[in-house]
Amino acid sequence: MVIVGAGHTGAQAAIALRAEGFEGHVVLTGDEEAPPYNRPPLSKSFLKSTSDAVSVAVRPEGFWAEQDITLQLGRRSVAIDRTARKIALDDGSELDFDRLVLAMGSRPRTIPTAPGIATLRTTKDALRVRSVLRPGARVILVGAGYIGLEVAAAACEAGAEVTVVEAAPDILRRTLSGATARYLQTAHERAGARFLLGSAPRTIRPTGVEMGSGENVEGDVVVLGIGVQPNVELAENAGLAVLDGVVVDEHLRTSDPNIFAIGDCARFPCAVTGRPVRLESVQNGTDQARHVARTLAGEATAPYRSVPYFWTEQHGHKVMIAGVSAPDDDVQVRGNLEDDSFSVFRHDAEGRLTAVESVNAPHDHVAARRTLGGRT
Ligand code: FAD
Repeated sequence: MVIVGAGHTGAQAAIALRAEGFEGHVVLTGDEEAPPYNRPPLSKSFLKSTSDAVSVAVRPEGFWAEQDITLQLGRRSVAIDRTARKIALDDGSELDFDRLVLAMGSRPRTIPTAPGIATLRTTKDALRVRSVLRPGARVILVGAGYIGLEVAAAACEAGAEVTVVEAAPDILRRTLSGATARYLQTAHERAGARFLLGSAPRTIRPTGVEMGSGENVEGDVVVLGIGVQPNVELAENAGLAVLDGVVVDEHLRTSDPNIFAIGDCARFPCAVTGRPVRLESVQNGTDQARHVARTLAGEATAPYRSVPYFWTEQHGHKVMIAGVSAPDDDVQVRGNLEDDSFSVFRHDAEGRLTAVESVNAPHDHVAARRTLGGRT
């Protein structure tokens, strides 16, 4: 088994293969130098900590050898020969495979005409941003998505002056109801963050933005959080079906039956909505890795049916989102926003529950996952 991409999902696939009792060769190959690590802390605890001792490693150093998993780091897979079942790597070497799992993840969107602007994906990126976070530093976030807002919260906590710039009229528009988004925005504003919404910046530089209104916002650092794009080039060049992600079926198989794709890079049929979706979350990567491992170890024959969920932490508020909603889904708030603990239920036009957003309400989240999974 060869797994391309030694990030969270690839690592979980290798771990799950061994846990399922698979005894053949497992090669986990990736282009980053570091052994597999978790990205969520990079915009949360890692960013807030002042020490390098915060470990983000998926497993302790010796784990991979103990499990007889061959870890090949710092090498990029550049081509797949599907007929010969070989992968070419950028150092000129080759890897043979019987089955291949693509877990190539995604990378931050950038602005080609404005290079050098900070983004947040790797530990190196996080160290760069962290080095600027100090009292009085001026931090500008372009894009009010989860990563931008988590960095905004960490920057405020570090005593920095924070400005969030967003072209849309409100924050987190793609994934959250207006009720929860406004609640979070208020928490940021109370902590001192300034929001410039509904206006796209005219120009963006590594230390400042010029707004469409002509206002110049100067900073010590600009962090771009305008979403990610899936790493699909390897699959596309090998002739696999690709459409905003490597297209897979309900068993997470690509258009080649020997090749699977999982995690941030895969577009799969969602069990909750029935629509194809590509998700960027730890749960999605973990559950898909386990499912593929069961299939490869000869066990899973049922389709992949996990209920998606995601979490974010901003200014001490933990928001957990189960399911996948569309922006025009109905909104029902249960609980009281003033109590700092409530849930928002989303329903589609047919009245089907599509998602539940729970703010500081973990019990609601657990119940929501059960309900969305059809078990209640
Ligand atoms: P990745 O983590 O992107 O790993 C893919 C790996 O493959 C990378 O190392 C990449 O370099 C490598 N690769 C790509 N192409 C090749 C190639 N051709 N050859 C070799 N290697 C290749 N999710 C949550 O659920 N909750 C959170 O709170 C949360 N917070 C986040 C905070 C940050 C700052 C970031 C960046 C992400 C966060 N996420 C969160 C998302 C979560 O981390 C991702 O969904 C998860 O990392 C996806 O794992 P992956 O292995 O699919 O992709």
